[in-house]
Amino acid sequence: MQNIKDLFLDQESPAGRLVRAMAALGAATAGQLVKSTGIGRSTVSTLLSELRDAEIVIDVEAKSTGFGRPSQLLSLNPASGRCAGVLLGLGEIRIVICDLTHAVLSDVWLPIHRDYTPEEAADQIRDTLTTQCASLSLSIPDLLGVGLAISAPLSYDGKVMNGDVLPTWGGVDLAEIFSTRIDCPLHAENESHCGALAEMTWGAAIGEKDFVLYKFDLGVGGAIVRDGAVQRGFNGSAAEFGHIVLEPDGDLCRCGNRGCLQTFVGSYHLMKHAEEFSGQPVTIDQFIERAREGRLGYRRLIEDAAEKAGWGMGITATILNPPLFIIAGKLATVGDAFVERLKSSFERHTLPPPDSGQHPRPRFVIGKFLANDDTVMGAVALVLHQHGRIAGQASRRLREQSAA
Ligand SMILES: [Zn+2]
Repeated sequence: MQNIKDLFLDQESPAGRLVRAMAALGAATAGQLVKSTGIGRSTVSTLLSELRDAEIVIDVEAKSTGFGRPSQLLSLNPASGRCAGVLLGLGEIRIVICDLTHAVLSDVWLPIHRDYTPEEAADQIRDTLTTQCASLSLSIPDLLGVGLAISAPLSYDGKVMNGDVLPTWGGVDLAEIFSTRIDCPLHAENESHCGALAEMTWGAAIGEKDFVLYKFDLGVGGAIVRDGAVQRGFNGSAAEFGHIVLEPDGDLCRCGNRGCLQTFVGSYHLMKHAEEFSGQPVTIDQFIERAREGRLGYRRLIEDAAEKAGWGMGITATILNPPLFIIAGKLATVGDAFVERLKSSFERHTLPPPDSGQHPRPRFVIGKFLANDDTVMGAVALVLHQHGRIAGQASRRLREQSAA
């Protein structure tokens, strides 16, 4: 039996697939593993006993279904591997280290000036991660991977596609900058895509294979999940719903175009208008609190935003017809004034169902990861799901193997 690291990075062998499925699920029964990997029941059973003998897999509490023998729940041995997630936020960086049962072992917030460069970020992350690893008797190369969540779409090879939130980062090669400093497999993705992985792993989309996530926060982001995989599109910028143009002559968006959805719904826009009528600075939390209380002006702004949000989601439904929408981001915490209004706007902007009979409509569910900093768990999920690999030992080794 190979060691856990080789198995984890092994895309082909049944044992590698089994280990990664267990990492993504956290704990699972043999039956769930058969279902999620598509590997035959007897092969799964043989591999599990080999993995148990190698102390890579352990038995955890038995799960009773109320009748018959309870199904044995299995997980990876928490001591067998760790991974890290990093959120590159606005004025702060958050780094979390988890084991393979998803337990958080270390969680550090790092204040950093607002217009930090990618090199500064990579240096600080390397130094902090080194200290965090040392406190767990590890070093960075022991990690199974580090996931980076960033507020921008990323190409498949790790280049920042647009510097919307971090203006100086447009075109930056994250793979190059981080792989020279952090010596382990690196994964990176747009933070809304990370959010979808977090919802699939721990939140409102557990067991959901097909859904669309809309994140309403400072900007508007999103993710499309098809058959259990986050779709990245041709160049990595799939599901940039915030830049659906609703009004070609509208306000200038941070992306450089006009009238994008996020110029109506992004909290940047809402706070700006709230400041205009209140005559003083308004934070996003103050805005949400006042909108929730139904205060004049605030209520109107949130209702207008919900109208446009429902319009954008209607366009998405017309194209994709997903069975489920997850609504994430801070604006979701405003409650009915936002969500119910959004749903009625959505109904007006999608194909109406026939008058007669029962016709299923998409479900709307509020996400579990609503605060921006929650995205750090999605960065951990990048490693657990082996999504968005940009660089690292394994890709180097694979390149060498294919060249040989
Ligand atoms: Zn835009």
